[in-house]
Amino acid sequence: MRYYSLNGHTALVDFREATLNGQAPDRGLYFPEQIPALDPDLLKQTRYLSKAELSFRLLKPFVGSAIEDAALFRIISETIAFPVPMVPVTGLIQSLELFHGPTLAFKDVGARFMSRALGYFSGLSENSTTVLVATSGDTGSAVAAGFSGVEGVNVIILYPKGKVSSVQEKQLTTCGANIKTFAVAGSFDDCQQMVKDAFMDQELRRRYRLTSANSINVARWLPQQLYYWFAWQQWQEEGSIPVMSVPSGNFGNIAAGLLAQKMGLPVTRFIAACNSNDTVPVYLQTGKYQPGHAQATLSNAMDVSNPSNFVRIQALLGQSPAAISKWLTAYRISDATTKDTIRSVYQQYQYILDPHAAVAYAALSQYLETHPHARGVLLGTADPVKFPEVVEAAIGRQLTMPDKLLPLMQKPSQFTDLPPLFQALKEQMMSEQI
Ligand SMILES: *Cc1c(COP(=O)(O)O)cnc(C)c1O
Repeated sequence: MRYYSLNGHTALVDFREATLNGQAPDRGLYFPEQIPALDPDLLKQTRYLSKAELSFRLLKPFVGSAIEDAALFRIISETIAFPVPMVPVTGLIQSLELFHGPTLAFKDVGARFMSRALGYFSGLSENSTTVLVATSGDTGSAVAAGFSGVEGVNVIILYPKGKVSSVQEKQLTTCGANIKTFAVAGSFDDCQQMVKDAFMDQELRRRYRLTSANSINVARWLPQQLYYWFAWQQWQEEGSIPVMSVPSGNFGNIAAGLLAQKMGLPVTRFIAACNSNDTVPVYLQTGKYQPGHAQATLSNAMDVSNPSNFVRIQALLGQSPAAISKWLTAYRISDATTKDTIRSVYQQYQYILDPHAAVAYAALSQYLETHPHARGVLLGTADPVKFPEVVEAAIGRQLTMPDKLLPLMQKPSQFTDLPPLFQALKEQMMSEQI
């Protein structure tokens, strides 16, 4: 498989190059040259395959010969070595719980695959790689955990100071060793811009072999399709196919779902559930794409005003709002509705939603009001305990911290403060060998 840049001005590269580069030299996102259709016989048999076997068959065409089969199978098996249960919430809505991995959020899947793939590639070369990543919370934790102790790979994380939860902050700032964390006095968009500028800076590129671990990296993006298939493996409703509601920020997760659908996964429609950062819902309604400044909300991992993966959705579905709306509906959900949803779903069904899943639930409920025969799956992207402040206030009781979080909360934090300016990041990176 080869990958081209969605900006259209660079040579085709294989999976290894695309992973190591992160972003194409013309600043575009990499996209697979073809999207392989799943063999119809295999589609009928998905239920009888193990998760690892199915995943190997799905990812193999995208990886090609860049990773040997045995190594790829091992990387995949390790990546998905935790349960992904589909839990009924109401008669119409089920939650695909993606938060049973080490950092309690779905980003573990992409980060674990990517860290292992990079570890494999760096084992084949002399030079160390530096992963530079901007995070609104969960990416950084998953990347820090995924890369912690991986030889030949250093990690630099930028997060917006004061805009992540207490648990996320601990996960970001306590890995030490090959992980260096900057607390930026700005928004996630500022962090993302600083990272983008760093990738374009010739001096930094001479000093570091830089790559990104944001969902723009194909090695993070592509494995996210896997759990949509795990949902289908568990789908019990004969004669119907699901609507999938995805809490969306940078739109990497939902773009991976659309990729799965293109390969043959049965899905009626995708719902892009957004918080008040509503660039895409507004675009689909008015035809105007007008990103502004990101607003801070309760679902902070979705506080993105200019979603970087939206171009992949256009590549998959088409360039016009009408073409996109054939398969995707976008909703804007306010913080007030998010809190109400957490409270009422807990009271009615004793199911605890995190703020991101609550946005997906609210959007799905609105859709189901006008489509009474539809059946929906929402993606539970984070464990509610990652957002204790918001969730406890909404349900009126304390959450039990899982045992695995207790030692983490005791560890001392280590980070460096940074103003929201690329020059400040550059000075840091030039002055010390990170
Ligand atoms: C990152 C994240 C999202 C948004 O995913 P995108 O791929 O950026 O759209 C949603 N929920 C949680 C908990 C996240 O960490």
